[in-house]
Amino acid sequence: MIEAAAGSHLVATDGRRYIDGVSSLWCTVHGHSHPEIDAAVTAQLEKVAHTTMLGLSHPGSAELAGRLAELAPPGLSRVFYSESGSTAVEIALKMAFQFQQQRGGQHRRRTSFVHLRDSYHGDTIGSVAVGGIELFHSTYRPLLFQTHAAEPGDAADLERVLACHEEEIAAVIVEPLVQGAAGMLTHPPGYLRQVRELCDRFGVLLICDEVATGFGRTGKMFACEHEDIAPDLLCLAKGLTGGYLPLAATLATERIYEGFLGAPEEYRTFFHGHTYTGNPLACAAAVASLDVFERERTIERLQPKIALLREILAEIEAMPEVAEVRGRGFMAGIDLGEHDPALRMGHQVTLEARERGAIIRPLSDVVVLMPPLSISESDLKRLLEITRESIEAACAAAAPAPLAQAA
Ligand code: PMP
Repeated sequence: MIEAAAGSHLVATDGRRYIDGVSSLWCTVHGHSHPEIDAAVTAQLEKVAHTTMLGLSHPGSAELAGRLAELAPPGLSRVFYSESGSTAVEIALKMAFQFQQQRGGQHRRRTSFVHLRDSYHGDTIGSVAVGGIELFHSTYRPLLFQTHAAEPGDAADLERVLACHEEEIAAVIVEPLVQGAAGMLTHPPGYLRQVRELCDRFGVLLICDEVATGFGRTGKMFACEHEDIAPDLLCLAKGLTGGYLPLAATLATERIYEGFLGAPEEYRTFFHGHTYTGNPLACAAAVASLDVFERERTIERLQPKIALLREILAEIEAMPEVAEVRGRGFMAGIDLGEHDPALRMGHQVTLEARERGAIIRPLSDVVVLMPPLSISESDLKRLLEITRESIEAACAAAAPAPLAQAA
C-alpha cells in the first residue's frame, strides 16, 4: 500500500521505502512530487478542475497541442486528446479507418489493419484486435475485427503481407523500436525506416504507438527520431503528463485532418469524445512536464545514465540465470529464459526485490526495468544491485535440491 512518493522513491503505509523501478507503470518521467508539476496542477486547480472539450476548449489544451506539434516528428500538426494509451490507439484506428472511407472510391475497401506479432496496444477491444500477445488477447478473439499480422523486425514479411492484401489495408500499426509488453522485444536498426517506406509504397497509413517509447524512454524524445521518420498518426500517453494524471494524445498530419473537413450535414466529423478528454488539470501537468524537459535538460542528462544502465546490464546478461537482456535507452527487459510457468519465476524475482527495497514488475519471465528518467546514478546502481540479488535468490530458491548420492 503506497501512500506517498518523492523523486524515485515510493513510501508504503508501513513506512518502508522502495525505489520505483518501473516508473509507476512506465510513466513517471521526472520522478514523483516534482515541485514544478505540483505547482502547475495546484495553480490550475485554483482556476478550474474540469471543463468539457466537446464544443469548448481551454488555454492549457491549446498550449499543450502547440507544444506537442512542435516537438513531434515533422508533419504531425493536429492533436486529439483522450485519457489512456488504449484510447489513443482506438482513436488512431478509427481515424485511419474513417479517413480511408471518406477518401471514397477504391479506398473504401481499406477496412483492415496490419500489426506486428507479439504487439501490445492496450486493453480495449480495438487495441486488442491489433494486439498479438496470446496470454492477454486470445480469450477475446471472437470479439475482434479481422487483421493481418507480420513478423516483428522483418521488413520482407511486412512487404509480403502488404502485397497480399494491398487494397484492403487502412494502416499499419507498430510500436517503434521496442515492443514493450512483448518483453522488450527490440527491432533491428533500420526496420522502422523500412516500415515507413513500405507504407508509402503501398499507399497505407502508418500509426506509431509511442505510448511506452515516447517522452525520452529510448534516449530521444520520441523513438521515431532514431530513424528520422514521421508516422501519419502518433499515439502518446503514459509520460505525457510526467506520470501525474491520465491524459493521451493522438497526433495526425494535416492531410488526415483535412479528410474530416466538410459541411456539418456531410457528416465527415470524427464522432469520438470522452467526458474527461483534454482535462485541464492533466493538460497543466503535461505543459509543466514539457517545461521540465527543457529546464532540466532531461534527455541530455539521461545519456550517461543510459550508458551506466547498459554497462551494468551487460554484467547481468552474463549471469548464468539470465538468458538475454533486451531493450533500448531506459527500457530494459531481463529474460530469465524458459521456466515452468507454475514457478512464476519473474514474479518471484519481483517479490525478492520488494524485500530488498525496489518495486519492479515482470512480464512472464522477463524482469522489466523502467526507472524514472530523473533517477540518480546511485539509485540506479542500487536498483540494478537489488535486481541482480533478487534474480540470484529467486533462481536459487527454485532450483531442485541436489539428489542424494547413491550408495
Ligand atoms: N500502447 C503501448 C505500446 C503500451 O505499452 C500501453 C500500456 N503499457 C498501451 C498502449 C496502453 O496504455 P494504457 O494502459 O494507458 O491504456
